[in-house]
Amino acid sequence: SVRFQAVSKSFSTRLVLDDLSLTVRTGEKVALIGPSGSGKTTVLRIVAGLEEPDAGQVAVFGQQVWPYRRPRPWRRSDARDRDRTMRHVGMVFQHFNLFPHMRVLANITEGPIRSRGIGREAARAKALELLEMVGLSGFDDAWPANLSGGQQQRVAIARALAMEPRLLLLDEVTSALDPELVGEVLAVIRDISQSSDLTILMVTHEMSFAARSVDRVLMFDEGQVVEDGPAAQVLREPTHERTRRFLSAVV
Ligand code: ATP
Repeated sequence: SVRFQAVSKSFSTRLVLDDLSLTVRTGEKVALIGPSGSGKTTVLRIVAGLEEPDAGQVAVFGQQVWPYRRPRPWRRSDARDRDRTMRHVGMVFQHFNLFPHMRVLANITEGPIRSRGIGREAARAKALELLEMVGLSGFDDAWPANLSGGQQQRVAIARALAMEPRLLLLDEVTSALDPELVGEVLAVIRDISQSSDLTILMVTHEMSFAARSVDRVLMFDEGQVVEDGPAAQVLREPTHERTRRFLSAVV
């Protein structure tokens, strides 16, 4: 589960999250929608530990990850608990961010080998399985630069899953793709979301995908959640004027 309690965050003078509270239950698949600059990406980055809130509390799977007490000798267990929790969080970005100097296979096995202590052979077997799952069997020897954007993004998803997260954060993972490549990436996400008990938080502008494939939609505006409900309801019969205006502008 993910829990934000009264979280605020500013970048210089701009208030990006405004006293935001939300709870996502374990196993839920949730889409974050809303206008540009409304704070969606910042929520994911805070969950991933890439940004620090200015105020409020954040808990992931019951473990408080913010405020985070810096390790002091008598508090070492706090740091250890937080690190253990963050190991369960995987993130995929808009711009793939594959390691360009590594072949596809090494991109996927690097994390498990280096930071999980998984043996090379086991990591390789798992990576091949994941490549099959994302529809890229036979691409293990390829270089990222020789793949299409959609293929690179599917490798990035396989790489995140190789770390065996319990929580997967997807930040506009199709926004940088040519339109004809969006479908193959969404299909992979739908498969994963249907076949696993992963908790998924995705920032997306793909409204028809969200309507069919997630449990719940959170509509953001100016750093707050202005509407929260089952995907079909929020996207097809929004109750808030702000959501209606947003949806009519994106469709
Ligand atoms: P988008 O769809 O454009 O990504 P968003 O809802 O995800 O929008 P955020 O990315 O969370 O919004 O950003 C909210 C605001 O915070 C934006 O105006 C952005 O420019 C600003 N911002 C984000 N990160 C930083 C940063 N590191 N330094 C300064 N400003 C930032």
